[in-house]
Amino acid sequence: MNQPRCGNNETLLCPSAQPGMENCQVLGVLEGDGDKPMLSYLNQHVAVTGEILSLAGEAAPREVFRFAATCEAKKCVHFNGCECELATRIVRILPAVVSTLPPCVVRANCRWYSQEGRAACLRCPQIRTLNTNPSEELKLAAGYQPIERLPDCAASP
Ligand code: SF4
Repeated sequence: MNQPRCGNNETLLCPSAQPGMENCQVLGVLEGDGDKPMLSYLNQHVAVTGEILSLAGEAAPREVFRFAATCEAKKCVHFNGCECELATRIVRILPAVVSTLPPCVVRANCRWYSQEGRAACLRCPQIRTLNTNPSEELKLAAGYQPIERLPDCAASP
């Protein structure tokens, strides 16, 4: 059964974390081509180390790996005080990319799963934490705001 949707449960993990976050572990390795990444989930808990990060080589580690770490809740721009809005948008905007639950060792503590259930997992493998060339759908899901049109220069009185 999923945990309650609302709240700052300190045991929950963010499945699109930064490598410097607390309790960080490698969630998986990104495969597929640049436009259509697909996460290969690790089948065991592997803590992030400098040695693992160095395996990314010239790339940024978040382009090669996905990390899970303690959800920062109110410190994160996606947390609205109750829920992770990133997870909500991913489920509303992105298509499912798999038809069965991916094998995932963090499911029992995953904020996205806790909040959105199976729908989050069916969309999760396509997420790249650092995406330098996101599709329009991914931009919307990530919460990018279009730059507001600047007001025309007002005619001088
Ligand atoms: S959303 Fe699902 S597949 Fe993705 S990390 Fe959470 S539990 Fe795992």
